[in-house]
Amino acid sequence: MPTLAAVNLETAVEQVFRVTPRQRSALAKLGIRTARDILFHFPSRYESLGGLKRIKDLREGETASIIATVVGLQARKAWKSKMNMAEGVLQDETGALDVVWFRQPYVANMLRPGTRARFSGKVGRRKTLLVLQNPEYEPLADDETITTAALPYLAVYPESYGITSRWLRHAIAKLLSEIGALADPIPPEILQKYHLPALARALGAIHQPKTLGEAEGARKRFSFEEIFLIQLSRQRERLRREKEPSFRIPTDTELLKRFLGTLPFPLTGAQERAIGDILKDFERRHPMARLLEGDVGSGKTLVAAAAALNAVAAGYQVAYLAPTEILSRQHFAEFIKRLAPFKIRIGLLTGAEAKKFPSKVNPRDATHISKSQMIRWCRDGEIQILIGTHALIEEKVQFKKLGFAVVDEQHRFGVRQRQKATKGVQPHFLSMSATPIPRTLALTMYGDLDLSVLDEMPPGREPIETRIIAPSERDATYALVRREVQSGGQVFVICPKIEEKNTDDDAESGKPQSQAKLDWAEVKSAKAEYKKLSEEVFPDLRIGLVHGRLKPTEKESVMQKFRKGDLDILVATSVIEVGVDVPNASIMMIEGGERFGLAQLHQFRGRVGRGTRKSYCFVFTTNGGETRRLEALRKAKTGFELAEYDLQFRGAGELSGSKQWGVSDVGMEALKNIKMVEAARAEAQELVARDADLAPWPLLAERVQAIDRQYHFE
Ligand code: ADP
Ligand code: MG
Repeated sequence: MPTLAAVNLETAVEQVFRVTPRQRSALAKLGIRTARDILFHFPSRYESLGGLKRIKDLREGETASIIATVVGLQARKAWKSKMNMAEGVLQDETGALDVVWFRQPYVANMLRPGTRARFSGKVGRRKTLLVLQNPEYEPLADDETITTAALPYLAVYPESYGITSRWLRHAIAKLLSEIGALADPIPPEILQKYHLPALARALGAIHQPKTLGEAEGARKRFSFEEIFLIQLSRQRERLRREKEPSFRIPTDTELLKRFLGTLPFPLTGAQERAIGDILKDFERRHPMARLLEGDVGSGKTLVAAAAALNAVAAGYQVAYLAPTEILSRQHFAEFIKRLAPFKIRIGLLTGAEAKKFPSKVNPRDATHISKSQMIRWCRDGEIQILIGTHALIEEKVQFKKLGFAVVDEQHRFGVRQRQKATKGVQPHFLSMSATPIPRTLALTMYGDLDLSVLDEMPPGREPIETRIIAPSERDATYALVRREVQSGGQVFVICPKIEEKNTDDDAESGKPQSQAKLDWAEVKSAKAEYKKLSEEVFPDLRIGLVHGRLKPTEKESVMQKFRKGDLDILVATSVIEVGVDVPNASIMMIEGGERFGLAQLHQFRGRVGRGTRKSYCFVFTTNGGETRRLEALRKAKTGFELAEYDLQFRGAGELSGSKQWGVSDVGMEALKNIKMVEAARAEAQELVARDADLAPWPLLAERVQAIDRQYHFE
């Protein structure tokens, strides 16, 4: 073992503590490798140690602390249960008390008779005698005494088999006493400005608080720290990008006026603002990196189309990346519809097909061409706007002069998309998303991007009525569906993935099912639903089925039928749904509502209410539970409201984002606090403006680099 002086934050746990192989794997499960990881493994809650009492005043059932001397203590095995334990007697000036440590026989070796200590634990009863159970203890010097006010709170940690809170408390106490001076990465001016405790004090306070207020202050510091580091990383990324060259695309005001004149409706104020943001970015000599957030149906595609038209008119090509083939085709159709009056040449490229508009034969229609022809036409600039799936960022696809790239339904452009630069010049990037995320999260995780929000829906849409349907109301709901279809409406039915228990090896061995199996389970549940609806419930209605296992052409023909009104009901799996636009659809039925996240349910709901019919969203539940969560879906009008709800009301650890965003529970707490996020952002901007390399703050620079690495592997 190294000398204690060598312990620092990066020291491996095994070099400080003796750990068994089981403990090592338990630590790994908790993500703990170094002293830093242990010290940053924060308590999930605290337990009060109760007041300081004398033995004769103890009452059964209470949690209390006593100062007492060990009279006798022995390890033994309970003869019935065979449980190992340590058992003995404690004594103070008022009396004696039995004490027992279940499953901790080793305590008998640590507390010799005559040891004076503080013991804190729950008072139980064995037959007629009181007994102190599994108490925490802290040995005291002979004349040392403590008062109730000085009693610490007991930290309770996220545990793993083999690593208990008790183990962690002892490990942390040892580290805190041996680790020496801890330099704080956060500059002292910033700590002072926001009244945040310095690192060493904060670590003591979060693990061994004297008051809960002190613990809270420490937590606040750590949540600020996490968000601050992410902000620094993102602000540096932003600065870096702002130095890269891009094309300066001038705004053609006349053209855009004509474009708006061709639309059957006026833009919403939000759309106007977003288009304005983009055009302003186009005029700069550096690549735009903008995120356009808007609920489903808020009209993002039109914003992209207006900007694309402007870019094409200035002589640039546009790439539009959509997540699925269905959506690619839908956007292709929408672009043709909106841009046909301007004689723009538009291409569609997916894994399955290539199409070009206009066709030579029929200038009002698109025609199939070969992929190699598409690639050629893209390279020589004949195709001005290319829409498609990931097929369009394959190596072979090259542009003559790509000025503007749009990525739909994805928050962030991948590295590969960025490589599509023309001769090293980055195009302007617009990323569009209907996944509502809270403002604090957007400001933090996308701190390097500029944000435009479509927070206004096109007018004339009646709000969608959402109902949570208990099993007993199913028949009545089906009757309503039938009436809606009879009066000309159309219906979506979304089926959840249903994990099949004990029907295959994976489930039996307790292993999680593979993604492929889950997808397959989803297809099966959709097929079963289709069978039930078409044979039993609505044998007289026209019902279609679409799922991920169909061939693209089969999928398209079903979708086409539904869009044309040749089907009344479309049963679908959840993978199919994003962004599909069928204005006549007025009912969204969701089976197994409790299996979906709120954001996803909200996305489904957005598939209806796009036309003029009054629309409904029926969420079926199988168990009648989860009502509070689903109730939020009923009440919230926008996805942003829902996202905020998710953030504010879910407990730490189950926050929708924690895993997805790579933010810890403590970091998520900061995201509940817009003031803190804005402060962290402002301070990060200030530091980066003073020195982009963070040279005056080497510790900070080191931590930020670690975040950069994570972020680039995202
Ligand atoms: P999103 O991609 O944001 O979900 P879309 O761009 O698909 O939404 O737009 C949904 C529908 O609303 C489309 O049919 C589109 O033509 C229409 N739309 C877009 N903007 C407006 C507007 N300002 N007024 C009325 N309808 C609009
Ligand atoms: Mg869309």
